Amino acid sequence: MFDAALVWNEGGIVWVGPDSELPLEFKQCSPIDASNQIVIPGLIDCHTHLAFAGWRADEFVERIQGATYLEIAARGGGIASTVAKTRAASFDALFERARLFLHDMGRAGVTTIEAKSGYGLNLETEIKLLEVYQRLGATQPISIVPTFLGAHTIPTEFKTNRAGYIELLCKEMLPAVAKRNLAKFCDIFVEQGAFSAEEARDILQQAASLGFKLKIHADQLSDGGGAALAASVRAISADHLEHVNDTGLVAMAKAEVVAVLLPIATLYTKENFIPLRRFDQAGVITAIASDFNPGTSPSFCLQLALLLACTQHGFTPEQALRAVTINAARALCLEEEIGSLETGKKADFVLVEADSVSEWIYHFNPSRRMQTFKKGKLI
Ligand SMILES: [Zn+2]
Repeated sequence: MFDAALVWNEGGIVWVGPDSELPLEFKQCSPIDASNQIVIPGLIDCHTHLAFAGWRADEFVERIQGATYLEIAARGGGIASTVAKTRAASFDALFERARLFLHDMGRAGVTTIEAKSGYGLNLETEIKLLEVYQRLGATQPISIVPTFLGAHTIPTEFKTNRAGYIELLCKEMLPAVAKRNLAKFCDIFVEQGAFSAEEARDILQQAASLGFKLKIHADQLSDGGGAALAASVRAISADHLEHVNDTGLVAMAKAEVVAVLLPIATLYTKENFIPLRRFDQAGVITAIASDFNPGTSPSFCLQLALLLACTQHGFTPEQALRAVTINAARALCLEEEIGSLETGKKADFVLVEADSVSEWIYHFNPSRRMQTFKKGKLI
């Protein structure tokens, strides 16, 4: 819509429509001039691994030289190396680092993120990560939706005792997180080297019985039946999906599982970008997120994800914008509250100095001027 007006108060958006039809009662409000700008819903990054210690730039170089993700993991790199650093880090150090990431995300138009644990893989550190998210949610403006990802991989000390770790997850960790209400979702990495679909089913059923909503890292590096599993356990989303099969996609559509595509991770792992039309043909709703993590997606630049969605997956700019707003809200079960500029929703929106959504995405310029409003306030 061109020449539009948006009216909000602390409670949310109260009116939106053509400026020429602005009701008299709102003409007294002090306006913010948005001429030569576009106004978009606050961006929602619905898949991040926000809090962790250290980076893995050494593995970035190894991968350039031909090592695969699974080879690096097999020699103790990958997730295991971040787990060791995160266990050793203090709460305050993890909190401060994540706070700075969030600050930069906010400047780039992000108003809500999902944030996963998963670099603790023991009760103490998983709780520490989720408490970092709890405190961040209470002390800075960006909304945080926390996810328990204790089933990220089998930790080193349980390598010869998988069943022992799964028992720990189901009998101690999930109940402890549920009791303290520290996570909305439970997620699991279904992949060779992590968890099989059969193991995942047991863990997810236990999580569901404790009241968690479900997510799955599915079919990223190989077709592990993750999409079909997501459908059968009624997960809210299945994320990655570079190797998804068509039967899995049809099952996802039937069960209304949102597909979350993570094109920055696809770029870094040199996997295939699945054409959007495969999801469209199956009738699956698609969201886009950053997958910000120290290994396979060390960037939280959603604008880069949008560009890749258009150039590599075949989204139009408007489809890409929906994928990081209303569809991302669906992937977090928040579509009634955020994700679009409609009366009654939260006043989370962004002013971008751009001629159009297309011009914003195509003229890729991460330092472009943006003004982010969270619950009606400029952040
Ligand atoms: Zn992830």
